[in-house]
Amino acid sequence: MTDAIFRWREIFGKVAGRARLITVSKTFSAAEIEPVITAGQRIFAENRVQEATAKWPALRRQYPDLELHLIGPLQSNKAAEAVALFDVIQTVDRAKIAEALAKEMKKQGRALRCFVQVNIGHEAQKAGVAPEALVDFLGLCRESYGLNIVGLMCIPPIEKDPRPYFKAMAEMAARNGLKELSMGMSGDFEAAIGEGATYVRVGSAIFGGRR
Ligand SMILES: *Cc1c(COP(=O)(O)O)cnc(C)c1O
Repeated sequence: MTDAIFRWREIFGKVAGRARLITVSKTFSAAEIEPVITAGQRIFAENRVQEATAKWPALRRQYPDLELHLIGPLQSNKAAEAVALFDVIQTVDRAKIAEALAKEMKKQGRALRCFVQVNIGHEAQKAGVAPEALVDFLGLCRESYGLNIVGLMCIPPIEKDPRPYFKAMAEMAARNGLKELSMGMSGDFEAAIGEGATYVRVGSAIFGGRR
């Protein structure tokens, strides 16, 4: 655990002032996460609603200034739980989810910030809106559902230079008047910041390998 704090300090120092560091805590327990909170980290992300619901409510009560992002796929039957727990949803990528989120936010009187996930590498196995469908999808999210879309999120293809993908994301965000860009993980957050990431999502470089 002291290793995680050491690694967190080092990465936090590299990111601070250039982008915001999101610490990805999926698969790690509340007991493993808490020392990183007490060291000073405030923004965390999980990729599964169910796992986050088991871990975070108690931590959130104890540390009310935490910010929690959902960075994994969302099913519409989990929208209520997600809206109740998270502050930011980074994985809006289809009409059904946009609609379910909008409905729940209205019902719960909460207005979460949202990102649209873009499948920047056109990969069949990856979630996200195709780049060429982005303009229409953003219009739908904003006009039909009134979602507060603040930015774009992506996971570029692995084993390829991510920089051209990051660059394309930055251009898309600028063209659509979106301020935030969530991109860059343990292996490529420096490159992502270089291309304009405003949030980087770092897990294993802080916590070590996942179980
Ligand atoms: C797990 C995950 C990360 C963190 O990945 P690391 O390589 O461990 O830093 C970032 N983004 C998403 C969407 C993830 O699922």
